[in-house]
Amino acid sequence: MCRHLGWLGAPVSVSSLVLDPPNGLLVQSYAPRRQKHGLMNADGWGVGFFDGDVARRWRSAAPLWGDASFASVAPALRSGCVVAAVRSASIGMPIEPSAAAPFTDGRWLLSHNGLVDRGALALTADVLRRAESTCDSAQLAALIFDRGLDALADTIVEVGNADPDARLNVLAADGSRLLATTWGDTLSLLRRDDGVVLASEPYDDDPRWQDLPDRHLVEVGAAGVELIPLKGSA
Ligand code: GLN
Repeated sequence: MCRHLGWLGAPVSVSSLVLDPPNGLLVQSYAPRRQKHGLMNADGWGVGFFDGDVARRWRSAAPLWGDASFASVAPALRSGCVVAAVRSASIGMPIEPSAAAPFTDGRWLLSHNGLVDRGALALTADVLRRAESTCDSAQLAALIFDRGLDALADTIVEVGNADPDARLNVLAADGSRLLATTWGDTLSLLRRDDGVVLASEPYDDDPRWQDLPDRHLVEVGAAGVELIPLKGSA
């Protein structure tokens, strides 16, 4: 299962979120602390961030730890809204840059930690065509974009009911909001003085990290942090 991270707050460098923390995504790519499925996340990575209204992405199918060019440039990339992920490909899924999160519809950046039966998504041909990759996460992203992010909770519950074995931790951002679901995997929240982090696992040992409960929707925005239970057949 992959690991992801979202940031909403003051503009900070991408490296300060992803590369520098003692247990950030860079270290999680080879030594995650809380990963339940898969040992490491060596099948690619992606960093997406908002540059004004524009969602920009840098993705790769190679391990994050080997990318010296990204490490050189990341300190100069600053944003107030970031979605980043390192990937452990599920069995049978393609390893290609387009299968690495974050996915986008031009407005939202979206990452998925987990696994879902693609048949259970019951995508129309039109939605399937819009998926960036044949990977399950890309197809789930296409479905979520099609339904709209305001329906994220309903979409996750519906997919979870259609595939009871699915793990559906989703993280999305549009520049002013971070939305995330917990459904089968870990997610932690850190309230910093300059913003909020949502991450599959804490990137350091700051005592302010909070573990979030399973089967919830988390919304971070101007109004603060809201945690809403998701209903579904357990
Ligand atoms: N199923 C997705 C993939 O193959 C995500 C995997 C994961 O969360 N490790 O990329």
